[in-house]
Parts: sequence; structure tokens; C-alpha cells
Amino acid sequence: MLRPVSHHLQELLHHHGALRPGHTVFRSGGHSDGWIEKGSVMRHPRVLEEVARWQAAQVREAFPAVTLLVGAPACGAVLATLVARELDVPVAYVLTDGDLRWHRMHEPEAGYGVVYIDDLICTGEGSRLVVDFLRTQGQEVLGVSAWVSRAALPVPLVTLLPASFETYVAAICPLCREGEAVQHVDVRE
Ligand SMILES: [Zn+2]
Repeated sequence: MLRPVSHHLQELLHHHGALRPGHTVFRSGGHSDGWIEKGSVMRHPRVLEEVARWQAAQVREAFPAVTLLVGAPACGAVLATLVARELDVPVAYVLTDGDLRWHRMHEPEAGYGVVYIDDLICTGEGSRLVVDFLRTQGQEVLGVSAWVSRAALPVPLVTLLPASFETYVAAICPLCREGEAVQHVDVRE
């Protein structure tokens, strides 16, 4: 019997040392009891390819009408291309430094059924901006696919794994209240 993908990803993240438990303060201001260092996976194309395959299977099932995948440079674009290869659909990149815009590699016409591909969603702010951009471009946003998300989004969201760590608002962080020393600071997940 096939095991759920979540077990595979959890094991893979653990195996590659990507899980970083401990009192964490994000650059965005939130607190957590740990974080995921995605570079541990991203830097190994063969490993990333395997994760992309799992992600493609989930996208195919959740969003069968998909005709275009979108990713944001750098890691998100590489990932979107690997997932798109599995699904045999085209890919486009949205540049998110400054005003959002298409990368000139592909400025798609309106009317695609788009899934935005991401790795880790922390606050969800970046994903929401991309979804808004896609809609202004006349694209039908079917949903978002990510490995793990700490945030809810205003569109359907599928993930490979439930959130591995808790997320706290800084002012009411239970670890701070218990006087636990911060182990990871200025983290961008
Ligand atoms: Zn705290």
C-alpha cells in the first residue's frame, strides 16, 4: 500500500537536516517552535525532483483543469519548472522584486487555468500578492500548491505536509512567556 506523501516529505526533510526545532523569531516578526531550512533540499536537484514529482501528483488530482504553472524566482521558479515537466504544462515566472510582473521568458495570454507553485508558505503575504497579480492579468487562479503552509489563503491550497511547527504571534508566544531562549533569529522561511 502507498504511504501518504506527507510521511515521505517529513522523512526527506529530516534526512537532509532541514527541520530546525527550537524557539524561532522570523524576520517578518512572528515566533515559532521551529522552522524548515529549504536550502537543504533545494541544493540537491535529484532530491528536489522527487519532491516535485509528489507535488505534481497532488496538483493533478486537486486541479485537473490546470494549463499553466507559475513560480517566483529563484527557488520557486526552479520548482515550478520541475513540477510542470511532470505535468507536461507550460510554466511562467512572476518577478516579485518591486512591482509584480511577468519574467519576459513567458508573458502568457489571459485565460489559463493557473496553479501557483511554492515551497514553504510562511505569512502567505507573497502568495496573496501573486494571486492578485495573476487575476489582474486575466488568469483563472485554480489554486496554490506548496510543501507546507503556516497560513491560510483566499484560494484553494494543497500541501504535501501539515505544518511541522506551531506559529505564534510574538506578543503571546508561549515560549517567550516560559522564558525559553531564542535559538534562531531573523529567520526567513
Ligand atoms: Zn517567542
